[in-house]
Amino acid sequence: MKHYCLYLTIAALASAQDAVRLAEDPTVKAALDAAKRNEAHFIDEQARFCEIAAPPFKEEARGKEFERLFKSLGLENVRIDKAGNVIGVRSGAAAHPNLVFAAHLDTVFPPETNVKVTREGTVLKGPGIGDDCRGLAVMLGVIQALKDGNVKTPGTITFVADTGEEGLGDLRGTKNLFADSLKGQIDKFISVDGTGLSITNIGVGSYRYRVTFKGPGGHSFGAFGMANPIQAMGRAIAKIDAFEVPTNPKTTFNVGRVGGGTSVNAIPFEAWMEVDMRSSDKTSLEALHAKFKNAVQEAVDEENKRWTGRGAVSVSPDLVGYRPAGSTSADSAIVITALAVSKIFGHKEGLREGSTDSNVPMNAGIPAITIGGGGIGTGAHALTEAFDTKDSWLGTQRALLLAVALAR
Ligand SMILES: [Zn+2]
Repeated sequence: MKHYCLYLTIAALASAQDAVRLAEDPTVKAALDAAKRNEAHFIDEQARFCEIAAPPFKEEARGKEFERLFKSLGLENVRIDKAGNVIGVRSGAAAHPNLVFAAHLDTVFPPETNVKVTREGTVLKGPGIGDDCRGLAVMLGVIQALKDGNVKTPGTITFVADTGEEGLGDLRGTKNLFADSLKGQIDKFISVDGTGLSITNIGVGSYRYRVTFKGPGGHSFGAFGMANPIQAMGRAIAKIDAFEVPTNPKTTFNVGRVGGGTSVNAIPFEAWMEVDMRSSDKTSLEALHAKFKNAVQEAVDEENKRWTGRGAVSVSPDLVGYRPAGSTSADSAIVITALAVSKIFGHKEGLREGSTDSNVPMNAGIPAITIGGGGIGTGAHALTEAFDTKDSWLGTQRALLLAVALAR
């Protein structure tokens, strides 16, 4: 164990010196300076393209704009794959290592959302402005700065504006990258998601269900005595609410949406709910998953027992989302490099866990981390989302230096 720790310390030290040395390379230094100089422009861009709505499963318009931007910034082989991912290549001396640098196009907001971005001083406000318009802006800033500094990397960087990161999108863009469009070609993966200077190396896995309760339905007065799908669902929700889950590893559950019924004076024929369960630990997640399935069935059995005379309720729990759990070891080269690089830009925290595009490579054993895009974000996933651009260039510079360090 001692040897192991000593090795780690030496590796971390070597890596820290290496990061500092890399930052002093003339072309890299020129690129870092360009990233700072260009920051105001890419903040304007962030505000501009964030007004192109990108609701779940409807990222095409913003994707088209990124296809145009990738081309205008000089990326090669710019294309949109069948999952809607926008892919562009910046070739190095060799095709490998191939680093994928990603940020997600989609937001959690439905199509009718007002996506106008407003500014007050250094603060931008608008749905998705931090998550993940910030990551997308950092990606553009990095591409431009690499060009401005004329940086040559030994390996290749493939930039991807990906789809389906949020909600029921279920990481479909990233899953498609690894299963199809860049299958077998990805050696390392970083995604820039949200704000701050965080580093995420643990991928929280999740199960998501849409549970539908059905019954014959009828008149609230005339058919009284019939089992009621909404009331069965109420029993299920009460059971879920009473679950005890471990705090470490953090394991969570949420009934996020419900619907059903047609009228106040009708026994409904249908009700539905959407449930999200998460853990960074596979065993805890499986235990919670089993408890959830039992609770739903028990709730329906109890409802049917309570009202026996006039038609029973049935239930179908449909899996609508599954995000694999995974992690990139804290002593892996990619994490040591990310910590060493981030330290230069004032990152002081440790490592985090989250549910991001990196879950997919983490699960497949490909070195992956997710980093924040700098600045200060508040209210992610809320209509009141805001992004304070103060010193946000540090996030662009950090992502840039990390990309150069990993494309070797
Ligand atoms: Zn995000």
